[in-house]
Amino acid sequence: ATAGTNISELMRQVLAPREWDILRRAGETAARLGCRVFAAGGVVRDILLQAGNLDIDLVVEGDGIALAGALAGAYGAQVRAHRRFGTAEVLFPDGFKVDVATARVEFYEYPAALPRVESSCLRHDLYRRDFTINAMAVDLNGENFGDLIDFFGGRQDLQQGLIRVLYNLSFIEDPIRLLRAVRFEQRYGFKIEPQTLKLMEEAVRREVLTRVSTERLWEELKHILLEKEAGRMLERLHQLGMWPFVFPGVTYWEVQPVLHDLGAAMQALDEWGFATGHDSWLCYFIAVLHWSSPETARALCERYHLSKRQAGKVVSSLSSWQQVLSLLSRRGEVRNSELARGLLLLPPEAYPLILTLLDEEWLKERFRQLLLLLKESRPSVDGNFIRSLGYRPGPVFRRALDAVWRARLDGLVKNSEEEKAFVKEFLSRHYGEGPHD
Ligand code: ATP
Repeated sequence: ATAGTNISELMRQVLAPREWDILRRAGETAARLGCRVFAAGGVVRDILLQAGNLDIDLVVEGDGIALAGALAGAYGAQVRAHRRFGTAEVLFPDGFKVDVATARVEFYEYPAALPRVESSCLRHDLYRRDFTINAMAVDLNGENFGDLIDFFGGRQDLQQGLIRVLYNLSFIEDPIRLLRAVRFEQRYGFKIEPQTLKLMEEAVRREVLTRVSTERLWEELKHILLEKEAGRMLERLHQLGMWPFVFPGVTYWEVQPVLHDLGAAMQALDEWGFATGHDSWLCYFIAVLHWSSPETARALCERYHLSKRQAGKVVSSLSSWQQVLSLLSRRGEVRNSELARGLLLLPPEAYPLILTLLDEEWLKERFRQLLLLLKESRPSVDGNFIRSLGYRPGPVFRRALDAVWRARLDGLVKNSEEEKAFVKEFLSRHYGEGPHD
């Protein structure tokens, strides 16, 4: 370990007041309970990188569950304990969460299986982590508060921008780390250290990813698809030979250009007021599959347990994107209502794909105008208005509302007075003078 590096000043700057308070109090609580506690893993990396919004993971030498309970008590938070693993979550009323683990050694009964757990100490806990940059801890106890614990050179790797495993069998033991290596490398613009890269290539050659459950694979893949640099990460998965294990049946080259530009498209949409937010993973998923056969797409939706609704969005995107694209690209006058009808065949998660495929500025601008128009042109008249005219609910409602909406999109009516007049006129034209009943 690096002797004498204390980062409590940095912690005070980087951490939110509550996070700071929790770490302080964790140390005090441990002293009271006669155990020792450390912040460990990604949180230490994030403090050193001065990144905000971090997850607090505590490791306890002693009874982790007892410490979690005491900590929760101090904050009026809930505890969820997992006795078998010696872990617990402290759940704050506002959703904030602290993970507490008991320092332990993991024995793998066979590679990629669930770990068997046995009590041990911090060093062992850190040693079973994925990369050196994720294997540091901060001492939270008494006068050692803020001491950086770095057995494996994590700080130096962080400074030099290197992703490095702690031991040669790392990827064999837990192949999911192959994906994590790519995620951290691209997120931070780091390099995978040469020996680690060799071990990765070797592990991929041995097809270790086939031994990972699809649940774990999806969990990590979804993490990737939610990252800002998801496009580069997918490219890297391809370069390293992992693509066929995560998207079997999908030809990378067919979708490469789209994946390359998708992030920028999502950012543009965001700036136009159409943020993709929590569903950005689905935007990537749709982009990955857009050239695939319906069978391949369906198989992947099933493999990763997408919900019916999500799978439905994938399927409708696949069957409609070309049609929407050619409609949008049509030269000359195209009525807005016609464009809108096309666009409504697609879920919003397919918008980034569409924007990426529109290769001329005026087309992008047309798309933007259309999105804005769609957002702003919900007519103010609704079924109640039609009912108030004395019509009974039925197919006529839908048709009238559809017609007034199109008129609105095409600029034929401009305000609610004109909308009402339009609806009346439409109804009398289609159903004769006056209500039916
Ligand atoms: P992120 O910023 O994406 O949340 P993180 O490193 O905090 O990154 P988590 O998945 O929350 O990611 O993991 C927390 C810590 O647990 C990691 O920093 C690492 O020390 C350890 N860890 C997570 N997954 C693994 C794994 N598969 N193998 C070994 N250690 C892991």
